[in-house]
Order: sequence, then structure tokens, then C-alpha cells
Amino acid sequence: MTIAIVGGGLAGATAATELRAQGYDGDVVIFAAEDHLPYERPPLSKEVLIGDKEADSAQVHDEDWYRENNVRLERGVKVVSIDPTAHTLRTEPVAGGDSTEQSYDKLLLATGASARHFDVADRVADPVYLRTVEDNARLRAALVPGAKVVIVGAGWIGLEVASAARQRGAEVTIFEVSELPLLGVLGPEIAQSFADLHRHHGVDLRLSTSVDEAALTAADVVVVGIGAIPSTELAEQAGLSIDRGILVDENLRTSDPDIYAIGDVATQQHPVLGRRIRVEHWDTAIEQGKVAAHNLAGGNEQYTHLPYFFTDQYDLGMEYFGSVGPDGYDRVDIEGDLDVADGGAFRAYWVKDGVVSAAMHANDWDSSDAVRDSVGTAR
Ligand code: FAD
Repeated sequence: MTIAIVGGGLAGATAATELRAQGYDGDVVIFAAEDHLPYERPPLSKEVLIGDKEADSAQVHDEDWYRENNVRLERGVKVVSIDPTAHTLRTEPVAGGDSTEQSYDKLLLATGASARHFDVADRVADPVYLRTVEDNARLRAALVPGAKVVIVGAGWIGLEVASAARQRGAEVTIFEVSELPLLGVLGPEIAQSFADLHRHHGVDLRLSTSVDEAALTAADVVVVGIGAIPSTELAEQAGLSIDRGILVDENLRTSDPDIYAIGDVATQQHPVLGRRIRVEHWDTAIEQGKVAAHNLAGGNEQYTHLPYFFTDQYDLGMEYFGSVGPDGYDRVDIEGDLDVADGGAFRAYWVKDGVVSAAMHANDWDSSDAVRDSVGTAR
């Protein structure tokens, strides 16, 4: 039996790892459009950008692992079409060359997402969209002391880039259309603490405004961090159901029973949350990779794990568990000191109808398990 995996990111690589770890001994092939060993992206906006580590350190496995575990890794090869009826797919080398056909018994789509583009092209020759090791290398080279860095968007990536850039001695200006960074996710009080943190570290944080022409023109480098778009083209071509991502059921199966989808590209009918959700986080790529491996090899497991993510900015570390639903929350309970710029630590709980739907801590690692376990409990 052949299991083919499209996408050599964290989700695809984890699924291959777990197939072998769980004892599956049939053929496994990964098609990876990037000409790299599969790697994790979070360090690209943190320790690798700051310069504390090199990009190689983010690899999921070294090259030997794929050989020793008999996982065929086709680097620099893109899957361009799928024929679900014939159970075949067509591949092409990204650098050009002949296309090849591959048959499969089960297929996993882990095509991830790409950075959302912003129309600054007419004003800025070549903005950085931080997604790949190449983007990271270009940005890292530009982050020299005194360099003028303009960041469009105060989301997670924009703020992490700001933190890395300040630590490398660059001058940073951020433009954010919202009144506060991360306002939609964190609410006004915690969002304010992030704004204070960045201003404390010397970032020129301009809120409720789009980019300013003069700043753009004067910038040495412009970084755009305004979200990601799931890479669904292949699934659309194959006729799979789509809902803001590739639609998968509780078991991570698409509308075709032999095709699964996981990671940034998948919108899952989540059995615990009771709604469809697409999660763009490191932890989801890993946890869905494990369950998909089990099911690709003949299992029938539901993916019930709740979303989790983390960020590191300057000395701040935070973790966030759970998910606020489309109906929002009734209140946020905050315990501790919101002044994270001055070493403060706190916990926060988003409560809807007397139940915690999401919870986070900042700089309070001892509380991590308790904060996680509070999600879904009465409060
Ligand atoms: P991806 O990592 O996007 O990998 C998909 C791969 O598939 C890509 O290599 C792509 O080239 C390939 N591909 C696509 N189409 C094809 C095709 N047709 N044929 C062959 N290959 C194809 N999450 C957190 O929780 N915390 C963080 O702090 C955090 N920091 C981040 C920092 C950065 C800079 C970025 C970009 C992301 C960060 N994330 C973070 C998000 C996390 O990295 C993603 O959720 C994770 O990478 C998703 O993994 P994936 O395998 O689903 O997709």
C-alpha cells in the first residue's frame, strides 16, 4: 500500500514520522515543493531571526532519518493535479522538467498556507512576507543596527519580527489599522499590555492607521504580516469540498474517503467545539499529523485536541489554549499583573455562558497545566 503526502511542512513530516512510529511498513512518499528538508517555521520569526540559532536547527529530522525510515522525500517537487478516481497524482519539479505520475492508495494533503499579500508593490519594490527560510535569510540580513524597518500589521508575526529587529538594533515602525495590536484575539486590556511592551522596547507603534507613504519610502526593509491564505488549489482541482480551507470531518477525512487533510490548510468539523475551525498553529500541525497517520494506516480516530499556540517577544513568553467561538465571550477574568513590560505575569480566562472557552498565561509557566485544564470548565 502507498501513502502519498503532499506538502513537506511540519504537518506532512509529522504524519510520516508517526506512520513509522505507529508501525506502518508500507510505502510512504512526501512531495515537498520547497527544496529543503521539512522544517518548523516558528523559529523563523524568533531565535533564527534574532541570530541565536541557524535555520538548520529548525529541521524536523536530518537527511539520514528519511533514508533510515524508508520515507521517500521528493524535494523541490510540486503536485500539480490529483485524479481521485484513478488514485493517481501528477508531479512536476519546481525548477522545471518532466512531469511524473504517482499512484496512491491513501493521500494526505498538508499543503499549508502562504502569506497574504498587500498592495504595496507600487511603492515598495520587494516587501518581505515571512514564511520560508529564504524569506528569513533575506530579512535577517537586512536587520542591521540602525536599519529602518517598517512592519505592516501588528499580528503575531509582525510583533515577533519587531521584537527580533529591536534585539538586532534596528529602528522599527509598525502600522496597524486596528486600535490595538491583537485586539480581536485578546481583547482591549491584554492587547494594551502588548502595545505597552513594544513601546517600552522602542517600537514606534502607529495604531488605527494604514501605512504612511513617507515611512514606506524611507524604509530599508518593509515586512508585511497580514495573515495567511490556505493553499487549497490542488484540493479544488480534485473536486474536494472547501470551506475557507479543505473541509475535513471529525476524523480529518475530506469529502473523498481516501484523502485526508491536516494543518494550516484544513478546516475541521471539530467534535468537541461542535463547529468548523481552521487553525494555523504549530501544535495543530503536529497533533493532527499523529491522528492522520493513524487513520491513513486504517484507524478510525477522531481529532479532539483543542487549539494551542505560543509566542515569544523580548522576555515575554505566553501560551494560549482553547478557542473563543463566533459568539464571542461574556467577560475576560484577568489574574495577576498586566505590566509585562516590567516583568509582570498574568493569567486570563475567556468566559462564555459560565464556561471557560479559552485561557492564556503570560510569563507564568508554573500555571501552564492549570490554565490549559481550565478550558471547558465552569467559571
Ligand atoms: P506549512 O508549514 O505551510 O507547510 C506546507 C508545505 O507544503 C510548504 O512547504 C509548501 O511549499 C508545500 N506545498 C504546498 N503545496 C504543495 C504542492 N502542491 N506540492 C508539494 N508541496 C506543496 N505557530 C505557533 O503556534 N506559534 C508560533 O510561534 C508560530 N510562529 C510562526 C512564525 C512564522 C514566521 C510562520 C510563517 C508561522 C508560524 N506559526 C506559529 C505557524 C506554524 O508555523 C504553522 O501553523 C505550521 O507551519 C503549519 O504547518 P503545515 O505543515 O500545515 O503548513
